[in-house]
Amino acid sequence: MDHEHHNHSTHSHENHDHSGHHNHSGGHHNHHDHHAHMIEDFKRRFWISIGLMIPIMILSPMIQNLIGFNVSFSGDRYILLGLSTVIYFFGGWPFLKGLYSEISKGKPGMMTLIALAISVAFLYSAAVVLGLNGKTFFWELASLIALMLLGHWIEMKSVMGASSALQEIANLIPSEAHKIIDGETKDVPVKELKKGDKILIRPGENIPIDGVITKGTAHINESMITGESKPVEKKKGDEVIGRSINNHGSLTIEVSHISDESYLSKVINMVSEAQQSHSKTQHLADKAAGWLFYLALSAGIITLVVWLSLGEGLEFSLERMVTVMVISCPHALGLAIPLVVSISTSLSAKNGFVIRNRSSFENARKITTVIFDKTGTLTKGEFGVSTFKSTSENYSDEEMLQLAASIEHFSEHPIAEGIVRKCRELNKEFLDIKNFDSITGKGVKGEFEGRTIEILSPSAVRSQNLELPHNIKEEVDETVVFLIENGDFIGYISLSDEIRESAVDTIKQLHEKGIHVVMATGDNKSVAKAVGERIGIDTIHAELLPDDKLALVKELQAKGEFVAMTGDGINDAPALAQADVGIAIGSGTDVAAETADIILANSDPKSVNQIIEFGTATYRKMMQNLWWAAGYNIISVPLAAGILSGIGIMISPAVGAILMSLSTIIVALNAQLLRKNLNN
Ligand code: ADP
Ligand code: MG
Repeated sequence: MDHEHHNHSTHSHENHDHSGHHNHSGGHHNHHDHHAHMIEDFKRRFWISIGLMIPIMILSPMIQNLIGFNVSFSGDRYILLGLSTVIYFFGGWPFLKGLYSEISKGKPGMMTLIALAISVAFLYSAAVVLGLNGKTFFWELASLIALMLLGHWIEMKSVMGASSALQEIANLIPSEAHKIIDGETKDVPVKELKKGDKILIRPGENIPIDGVITKGTAHINESMITGESKPVEKKKGDEVIGRSINNHGSLTIEVSHISDESYLSKVINMVSEAQQSHSKTQHLADKAAGWLFYLALSAGIITLVVWLSLGEGLEFSLERMVTVMVISCPHALGLAIPLVVSISTSLSAKNGFVIRNRSSFENARKITTVIFDKTGTLTKGEFGVSTFKSTSENYSDEEMLQLAASIEHFSEHPIAEGIVRKCRELNKEFLDIKNFDSITGKGVKGEFEGRTIEILSPSAVRSQNLELPHNIKEEVDETVVFLIENGDFIGYISLSDEIRESAVDTIKQLHEKGIHVVMATGDNKSVAKAVGERIGIDTIHAELLPDDKLALVKELQAKGEFVAMTGDGINDAPALAQADVGIAIGSGTDVAAETADIILANSDPKSVNQIIEFGTATYRKMMQNLWWAAGYNIISVPLAAGILSGIGIMISPAVGAILMSLSTIIVALNAQLLRKNLNN
């Protein structure tokens, strides 16, 4: 699967940085610095090459002819050769190095193609200066190097994700920790934490900082640090590492080590890694370059052989060959994809989506079905308690709610937040709960004074063969949870949530695109139906467990659907991973964000439409640019070889250069047009 592939590359990258020890903040910075260094390197080489290119241009006979002036003097050819030698070795160095690494891997690509063109241009021109009869290609050499450096500089910048838009977007994703002060939790920014602070970590949350567990047990996923994807069980006294994820269970930890690696810088890092793991389309450019390399090489050789066998002199034939090889290096190919990627990344960020997997983003055009989770995705996930009733003589209504809230306070679920808020309104304190655990998609449980208390969904209750109390109607359009003490009902709480305003429009727009819209929720059937019908969902699946959501995605995929999944919860993570395009709601859990291909920082489901439209436009622009860039070759190479010389058309290096610039300009302008696709 695509997804696994991307995860793997992301992780192996991490492994490399962290190399087994836990000083991850250090690793992170090295990695960051390395890129900053590369960008600086390309930038410096680019500007110095531009500086060298100007005198080369002025001294070039061809440019002089073109503009109509003459500054030739005796020995100018040696100055040209000198300047060009510097530009060839200094400016061309990254490409010569790239040639070596591509050839030693047996995979000629962009670097090989560029290196071939500049080497042929340089060596031939040098031979001409030193006595061979022919024309020099110095200015072509210089401009080729400068433009290629520019292309790689831009690409590196987009890789780094250094755009300020991305920083802004990362700011939207909260990096808060639940600090425990006098038994109460308070949300504070991670960077305000100090050594010795106690913080609460709920199921599905990121561990924001290094620490030692003082209370609770949990299964922790440390794969983003160690690469080991099997969760590790941790208990009191064990160390936990910032950036790992608490799969379930609730923990209190004491901060042991302050790192400046906040969740925010983590998101930025995550995205820049994604930029680095090239999408299929990006690889296509490399493949095209590989093909063009063979084309250029064979066209050059064929040109030489054919002209020689037609009885032309060696000098004429050699010049033809060199023209072919130089011209066939497409300036535009080096810019075609990086320009689109860089514009698309910054526009996406400005519009509120963080792309973690470019391949999925570019595949958005293929989506035929979109699955939405309900709670927190189509609805705001801000539950208000509307009724709470005790059915036990041992508890009053308020005591029952207090008991529920004491357990729910360890949970991250929107239902839990609603119950806790109600308890606070009633000014009740939390009771002392032991052994909290979450049962993903079903509910939560804990122990109070030696008794086991469960808070469960109706379907979880039914699957335990418990009869629902007769006086409770499940047919209300509300979310209901039941309290069970040692197997007996003690009460229920019903809550209501608000539908996100943009949900109706979102679904209408998806329908206009001919996309099938499905809802997959763990909530009860009557709520699912009420919400689904109000916003126009085609197919509704309710009372699903996490595995059911995953199975639903697989089932649709087996039918040939290209599936996008949108969700926010721990229970959505398996489905997000399986979907062809996994989209996480930014306000949701860290697990969902960590698993998804794209994160909606604005938490607006409407952006799903934007992702489809913009992903499609991005892909289209990349393909168009590839054609404009490679198309230039398809025309210019045969012409340069002299195919039409019989009817008097023979492309000179000058005309070749003009075509070359034209195709570069078209590619650059075409990339800019991408902006028109997201002007809202
Ligand atoms: P959705 O798929 O709509 O986002 P979930 O799968 O997260 O919903 O939840 C499914 C059901 O499981 C909820 O409607 C609720 O009944 C129960 N549930 C989940 N978490 C909790 C919790 N912390 N407390 C009580 N009930 C919960
Ligand atoms: Mg949800």
